[in-house]
Amino acid sequence: MKTEFPNTETLHFPKSCLHCEDPPCVPVCPTGASYKRPEDGIVLVDYDKCIGCKYCSWACPYGVREIDEHQKVMKKCTLCVDRIYDATLPEERRKPACVLACPTNARLFGDVHDPDSEVSVAIRENGGYALMPEWGTKPANHYLPRRKQRIKIHTDELVRADNPLKKERAQPKPDIKEPSLDDVTSW
Ligand code: SF4
Ligand code: SF4
Repeated sequence: MKTEFPNTETLHFPKSCLHCEDPPCVPVCPTGASYKRPEDGIVLVDYDKCIGCKYCSWACPYGVREIDEHQKVMKKCTLCVDRIYDATLPEERRKPACVLACPTNARLFGDVHDPDSEVSVAIRENGGYALMPEWGTKPANHYLPRRKQRIKIHTDELVRADNPLKKERAQPKPDIKEPSLDDVTSW
């Protein structure tokens, strides 16, 4: 449906690898570089095996893989796999960088197979959903429904006092009988 400003809204939808339970990016990889770890389900790329053929990026229905044109290997979210298993970090810091960095705690991290984990509870209690389930990929990452915030913009608020595009008034002209700046500052 086509609408016009101010009846429009902006939706920010972050999307990285969803670490699918049944990832179509894995079986298409001709070298075995793309793989899913049996121990925790994280989907990774072995850069030593990757030949940069891009088959996996065509197979991923979410468009989250990107070829590194410099290194000629496929890259994507690793779920900060080094960080989340880093025993030198305090346990509460063993989370992906995006989860730790988000100022509003919009991202949660945990085990979706543990019904008591923070993420399972959030999904269960808030109607969390998987993206594009029709693809049968069974993504581990889920989304929570957006909490809509309505902001009413009144017409008079559309005219900003500091609008940089507004037409400037004519600048005051100096009285030519008065001495100029050059007259009083030159020596
Ligand atoms: S989101 Fe794409 S890249 Fe990630 S596991 Fe699923 S199919 Fe593979
Ligand atoms: S780009 Fe790399 S990871 Fe992707 S299918 Fe080709 S070899 Fe496998």
